[in-house]
Formats: sequence, C-alpha cells, structure tokens
Amino acid sequence: MNVDWLIVGAGFTGATLAERLASQRGERVLLVDQRGHIAGNAYDEHNEHDLLIHLYGPHIFHTNSDKVWTYLSQFTAWRPYQHHVLGVIDGIQVPIPFNLNSLYALFGPQQAARLEDALVARYGFGVKVPILKLRESGSDDLQFLADFIYRNVFLNYTLKQWGLRPEELDASVTGRVPVYISRDNRYFQDTYQAMPAQGYTRMFRRMLDHPNIRVMLNTRYDEIAPSVTAGRVIYTGPIDEYFGFRHGALPYRSLHFDFDTRHVEHVQTVGTVNYPNDYAFTRMTEQKYLSGQRAPVTTMITEYPQPYVRGHNDPYYPVPTDANRALYDRYARDAEAIADRVIFAGRLADYRYYNMDQACARALALFEQIAAGHPV
Ligand code: FAD
Ligand code: UDP
Repeated sequence: MNVDWLIVGAGFTGATLAERLASQRGERVLLVDQRGHIAGNAYDEHNEHDLLIHLYGPHIFHTNSDKVWTYLSQFTAWRPYQHHVLGVIDGIQVPIPFNLNSLYALFGPQQAARLEDALVARYGFGVKVPILKLRESGSDDLQFLADFIYRNVFLNYTLKQWGLRPEELDASVTGRVPVYISRDNRYFQDTYQAMPAQGYTRMFRRMLDHPNIRVMLNTRYDEIAPSVTAGRVIYTGPIDEYFGFRHGALPYRSLHFDFDTRHVEHVQTVGTVNYPNDYAFTRMTEQKYLSGQRAPVTTMITEYPQPYVRGHNDPYYPVPTDANRALYDRYARDAEAIADRVIFAGRLADYRYYNMDQACARALALFEQIAAGHPV
C-alpha cells in the first residue's frame, strides 16, 4: 500500500492530523489503531440501556482555546455542561476543587471566617493556589488549613492514583486541582465547557469521513508497517515502545473501570464524587450527568488505579516525575534523529499529561508546521 502519511493511533492527536492533512492538503492518509474503534481514550458508545458510556473513563471537554473550539465545532454540535465534583471528607461531601464553600462545610462559622480572611489577605479573592504552594504559606492559620487540605484531599487520593506522594510528582499534577479562593463550585473555569451532543465517537466519525482517509482498526503499527510505503509516519503510541524500550520502559499508570447500572434515576447529586480517603477506588462518575440523558436507570463508572503492566492493561497516564522526564528526553533525542521520517505526538508519544484540548491543539500546531514546510 502506498500513502503519503501513515498515522498510528486514532485518538484526538491522530484523528486531528489525519483530518487536516486530508482535507487541507489533499494528502492520502492511512490511519491505523490497534483497538477495534476510533476516538482513542475518548471513545464512547451506548450501553444496553441506551446510556452513553465512556469506555475509558469519564471525559469532560473544556478549553480556553478559540482555535480548538472552532476546529472541533465543525464536526459536532455541543451540549453545554459544567462539571461539578464533590469530595467525601469525614463523611461530608464538599466541593472539589476545595473552595470557600468547602471550608464553611467543614469548619464552624467563626473558624471558617478567620481562615477565609487569612486566605483572602494572603492571596486575594478569586485566586487559585496549588496545594504545594499553600503549604509554603508560613502563617499559622494558613499552615493549619494547608495541612488539613493536604491530608484530607490530596495525600491519600494521590497515593491511590499514582502510588506516589504529591511531592514526588511534578507540582503541575496536583496543581490541576488548586485550592480556589472563591465560591465557584465548578471543577473547571474554562471559557468553553461542553460535551459533543451525540458523543465523541460520532464527532470522530465525522472528522474521519473523507475520501483520502482510510481507517484500519485492530491493526498494530509493527504488523502493518512492512506492507505500507508511506511518505512519513505520525506515531501517537508510547514512545518507549516504538524504540523497543532501548533505554528502559517509561512508567505509566493504569486504571480498571467498573461499570454498574442501578435501577434508580440518580445515585449522585453531581457528575463525580471523589473518595480521597476511603475505598480502593478514587472516584465514581454518573454518566447521565455528562450526556444529559434521562432514564429510570443510571450507569456509574468507578475508577480503580493500577500499576501499568504491558499486555495486561492500558497505559493511561504518563507519570510526571523528574526521573521519568529525563528518561523520556533520551527517547526524544532518538526521535529527533528520525524526524524526517517519523513524527511523534500525543499524550503517549510526547509523554505529557495532555487534556483532550491540548492533544488537539498540539496536533493543529503540528499541522501548521507541516503545511508551512517547517521542520518538525
Ligand atoms: P489516545 O487517545 O490515547 O490515542 C492513542 C491511540 O493510539 C489509542 O487508540 C491506541 O490504541 C493507539 N495506539 C497506541 N499504540 C499503537 C500501536 N503500536 N499501533 C496501533 N495503534 C496504537 N481529557 C480531558 O480533556 N478531559 C477529561 O475529562 C479527561 N478525562 C480522562 C480520564 C481518563 C481516565 C484518562 C485516561 C484520560 C482523560 N483525559 C481527559 C485525557 C484524554 O484521554 C487525552 O488527552 C486524549 O485521549 C489524548 O489523545 P491522544 O490521541 O494523544 O491519545
Ligand atoms: N487530586 C487529589 N484529590 C482530588 C482530586 C485530585 O489528590 O480530590 C490530585 C491527584 O493527584 C490527581 C490530580 O490531582 O491525580 C489531578 O486530578 P484530575 O482530576 O485532574 O485527574 P484526571 O481527571 O486527569 O484523572
């Protein structure tokens, strides 16, 4: 088979690049994925109760990028959706990210007011403070509060999710869910927050519906590569696997998802409830909140973190630590040496903790570089 581009992986990164190269430059693209479906980890499908389920964990779309929003809006209508998360602390459900409402829910009114004053005086109202920063704050009141939040919200959740303590990970990981000196209970504050009206898979199908794009599923790169002559390859799988683990395996974190349908209209009052301190799982998400469907039954996804074991489960999360970044850099240098033939991009190939919009933005930027004839 002779194509201009062989793209490995039909997730946000691979599908965006396939769409752009085919529709904007008339290039012939072969897009392969080892799974039996498109959409990568954003894949969704209807279950036997006709509820739209995210097979690889709950995916909530949010972005501040006009470019990404405008681009994806060509392929889907949207259902506005603001995600809310509650965390169970001492048996009480409080807003996550931890905010002033969480503070008042957990402390008496006088103590909460004093802590609020201390937070506002130190950082200002409306400011987001990563927990590891708040722990450096100095004053007695804030130190007490920082330690309380660290112990009750972050420490055990992070130990479960990563098998590491918060300070062993890059600060950006816990910084994704900063303490928010505000009464805004939403999980995200991005300009655009919405779900594809008919689901992610339908959106991907429209992206890939082009005569120049051929999609081959259940196809691994190493199986297909010998029989394809491609001008260039874009590889969105794990970078260490591509290079045969020659510098050692990069660590990833995996999850087991438990799907459970209950014969009640709702189990939770919000989309997700986090359990930082109890149980082996981290969080439960009620899919109906994400899809907006109404039904007498409801399907829950419970996430059980696991070590990644190649061949047994999927590499969902790169693990952002200094040592892993140094190991990745060695693979990145190998990638540079073959950049005229193979381009690496995406959450697994860049070994970066991208959200969906970041994966899409990365792909759009890469396409612009390719289109401008700049080296990538
Ligand atoms: P992927 O979606 O992982 O796609 C890579 C594809 O490559 C896969 O389909 C894989 O099968 C294929 N592949 C790999 N190796 C090979 C090979 N050798 N041969 C053939 N095919 C191969 N982001 C958000 O913005 N909001 C959220 O709420 C959110 N929730 C998440 C929840 C979970 C549990 C997880 C794991 C991620 C979540 N994300 C979320 C992140 C989101 O999934 C990623 O940003 C996005 O999927 C990255 O797209 P990608 O194309 O780079 O990678
Ligand atoms: N986190 C935590 N407690 C929470 C929520 C998040 O400790 O209640 C930490 C944890 O380390 C987690 C990280 O913040 O892995 C990022 O959380 P996010 O919800 O963004 O994770 P994702 O949705 O990507 O799994």
